[in-house]
Amino acid sequence: MIPFLDIKAINKPYEEAFREKMDLFLEKGWYILGDEVKAFEEEFAVYCGSKYCVGVGNGLDAITLTFKAYIEMGNLQIGDEIIVPANTYIASILGIIHAGLIPVLVEPDANTFNINPKLIEAKITAKTKGIMVVHLYGQLADMDAVMNIAYKYNLLIVEDAAQAHGLSFKGSHTRTFSFYPGKNLGALGDAGAVVTNDEKLAQTIKSLSNYGSQQKYYNGYLGFNSRLDELQAAFLRVKLPYLNLENEKRKAVAKRYLSEIKNEKITLPVCSADHVFHLFVIRTENREALQKYLADNGIQTQIHYPVAPHKQEAMKAFHHLALPVTEKIHQEVLSLPMSSALTEEELNHIIKVVNSYKL
Ligand SMILES: *Cc1c(COP(=O)(O)O)cnc(C)c1O
Repeated sequence: MIPFLDIKAINKPYEEAFREKMDLFLEKGWYILGDEVKAFEEEFAVYCGSKYCVGVGNGLDAITLTFKAYIEMGNLQIGDEIIVPANTYIASILGIIHAGLIPVLVEPDANTFNINPKLIEAKITAKTKGIMVVHLYGQLADMDAVMNIAYKYNLLIVEDAAQAHGLSFKGSHTRTFSFYPGKNLGALGDAGAVVTNDEKLAQTIKSLSNYGSQQKYYNGYLGFNSRLDELQAAFLRVKLPYLNLENEKRKAVAKRYLSEIKNEKITLPVCSADHVFHLFVIRTENREALQKYLADNGIQTQIHYPVAPHKQEAMKAFHHLALPVTEKIHQEVLSLPMSSALTEEELNHIIKVVNSYKL
């Protein structure tokens, strides 16, 4: 069976370096917010072309704490509305809700899967204060259009970049990242970060992530415990220098899929040149049949995602929304194996099998 994602194989080349980091870690005996977190924050800020990076516990907290910090700073108020794509992983929306804000869902462009900027203005009310963009599957959303709208209505922009490490971003907005093991830059456990050029925001997030304190045992905010783990930071520092190379390998896989998959039952994604291919997502009408056919032929696939956020059990207050493009996408998408560890042989097999699907 060709696995959908073999994280162990992706991490294999780094194992020696991980062991060295682990030895150093044990030798030092400093477990929380040490030199590794500080160094990773500096290195990831530089990598992203941002002034500041704050490590946090995971990608959801990166989103939640960013919005909480804007509330503490007075830029946002509880109950403000934030525009967010309806077609996303639920974490983008949960972060807004957990901060006490109201997510306003906007349909995607069916070709790119990303938010359709033409539909944003109709959703703007007097309470709208921000737009959260998601670069879904690793493809940049239509930032020129989003920035024009944000400028016109004086809205904050926050980017959920959890699937877009290494993307050439546009503008200098605050960006939230997840280093969940399966992401393009993945830790060996949970980890996340926020990058920003706003010093006050960075300080506020840092404080909120550490019990609202900037000085030990003095608490300026009602904070949380969501710190980037010292050991995960050490592991991430091992992998960061190779992120561009990892992304190039993903792009090479995608290039073969895009040029060699030819099957009228399958719609290939519309991809820009700088796509970092966290996922390679095709569409097909009878998804269950294709998934079963691929599995029968030794190819594991996954669905990102099977149920739209507004249709989830947890999101009852949103069940009444009619979001037909989002719902159709969730019925038709299927993710083919995508990783830097796929071999030529495996790729040849996947392409051959996909092309011979007839059902
Ligand atoms: C993975 C992901 C998150 C959440 O990250 P965690 O580290 O799992 O909390 C948020 N948004 C998107 C788009 C993601 O893919």
